[in-house]
Amino acid sequence: MYNTYVTDNSTTYLQWTWADFEPHYRELLSAELDQTNIEGWLKKWSDLISIADEIYTRLYVATTQYTSDEDVEKQFNDFIELTQTEIKKADQAAKQKLIDSGMEPKGFELPLKKLRAEHALFSEQNLPLLVEEQKLCNEYNKLIGGITFQWEGEERTASQMFPLLLESDRNIREKAWRITVEGRYARRTELNELWGKLLRLRSHIARNKGHDNYRSMMWQAKFRFDYTPDDCMSFHKAIEEVVVPAVTRINQRRAAKLGIPSIRPWDNNLEVNGDKPLKPFADTEEFLTKTRQILAMVDESFGDNFQTMIEQGLLDVPSRKNKAPGAYSLGYAVARKPFIFMSATGTHDDVETMLHESGHAMHEFLRQELEYFHDRAENYLPFEFAEVASMAMELIAAPYTQKTVGGFYDQQDYARSMIEHLEGMLKFWPYMALVDHFQHWIYENEAISHDGEICEQKWAELWDRYMPSQDYNNLEMYKQTFWHRQSHIFTSPLYYIEYGMAQLGAAQIWANSLVDQKKAIEAYTNALKLGSRASLPDLFRTAGADFSFDAPTLKKSVDLIEGELARLEKQLS
Ligand SMILES: [Zn+2]
Repeated sequence: MYNTYVTDNSTTYLQWTWADFEPHYRELLSAELDQTNIEGWLKKWSDLISIADEIYTRLYVATTQYTSDEDVEKQFNDFIELTQTEIKKADQAAKQKLIDSGMEPKGFELPLKKLRAEHALFSEQNLPLLVEEQKLCNEYNKLIGGITFQWEGEERTASQMFPLLLESDRNIREKAWRITVEGRYARRTELNELWGKLLRLRSHIARNKGHDNYRSMMWQAKFRFDYTPDDCMSFHKAIEEVVVPAVTRINQRRAAKLGIPSIRPWDNNLEVNGDKPLKPFADTEEFLTKTRQILAMVDESFGDNFQTMIEQGLLDVPSRKNKAPGAYSLGYAVARKPFIFMSATGTHDDVETMLHESGHAMHEFLRQELEYFHDRAENYLPFEFAEVASMAMELIAAPYTQKTVGGFYDQQDYARSMIEHLEGMLKFWPYMALVDHFQHWIYENEAISHDGEICEQKWAELWDRYMPSQDYNNLEMYKQTFWHRQSHIFTSPLYYIEYGMAQLGAAQIWANSLVDQKKAIEAYTNALKLGSRASLPDLFRTAGADFSFDAPTLKKSVDLIEGELARLEKQLS
């Protein structure tokens, strides 16, 4: 056991309430700090946070595993209300104590920089405004999630409408698409009003902290120490220059395969390289055994780690009633093990999800030797790199999904799955640039961007720039409101560029693995071991990738992807 407060193998710490934490926090907060005891103090604090974090995570996991279990829900809510609130206050005091001490424990410089940024953002004055913001976000989720659609006399949710967009009959697809966008368009005024309230509130929050605009405040809040808004703008430009033409080529190929003159919005989702959906596995056992084998082919130790997860019940994979949607990998901070959650039904998406979450899980295993919670915990990891761990795994592991090496697919199906994945990567970058560019514009123009209709015009202008090979002729009114359904803009402001950066990191690691897998994995592993102890440029460099977002760097990856696509297209019969 690594934890000061957990000396045997018992799990009684999982029952801790504030009464158990309180004396330890009291001791921490009353300690006199000096050079001789600072590291021990930090370790104790970190161990306390780890216990609180693991209790929270395990309860959260249980709520996603058993959505209708009221007991689980009550335990989770009780912990948040009765224990976590107190812990948050005590942690804020501990943070203050460390900062006031003026000491910088060795190796703790970067975490300390983050703690200072976090601490500086705290504002009594903003607390009610943040509650208000959360309420508006909930209102958005309720509004957008509550829209239902009438399909042949039957009420359907958005996810129930989606399969209709995969139909081979173009008329069905068009009808389904139109019903969906019209349903959302009908709520346009409400969404624009809600947006106006959110934007004004965010400007207010930023001004209270002395920032000219919300973006400048969020830059600190998101610990973006290693790149600037200008770097984001040049990434957008590089994407426009290098990726947009490649996506135009994809859409032309797609139109030719479908025998249509141009890609209309209802032609985006159906499969064009095969008529039956991929069916990689029959049951969970096969899925897990093969995943373990695939990971072991990437690196022996990855297979062993996955085996540990199977043996210790650290996976909840099959779909069943009363399970929350979505997928994740989360870490248990005291046990120092990951947990993977998903709802598999036997599709190719399940394979991608599992490899993605396995990348996160290996990251969790690899950073466990780090001493302090602040070096290991998910919430201090830069997302720009955390997603490199998962996205790179999807690519590096892909070749081993072939049957010839014990995986899921014959050559034809493998080509189909890989084409979909690589085309998806190319198509994502311009859309990412659109969403990110739009948000930069919003927070640089807070005097007018509370007006939803002005936002609509800007969005449409940017859409045409980044997504020119989509044919929206006579559908402009819908196109200009599509930002309404991009939840990040409403509920996770400025969070999006991370995915685009991570994808470029992952593509570079994949390129390395095609030349020398052993060396590439060694670099990837070394970077994952650093947790959040290193800066973003250092993490990328250690992993074997450049932390650059200019056209030449991007072009190398785009050329590689297009080359692979051409090779795979030939394998389709
Ligand atoms: Zn992820």
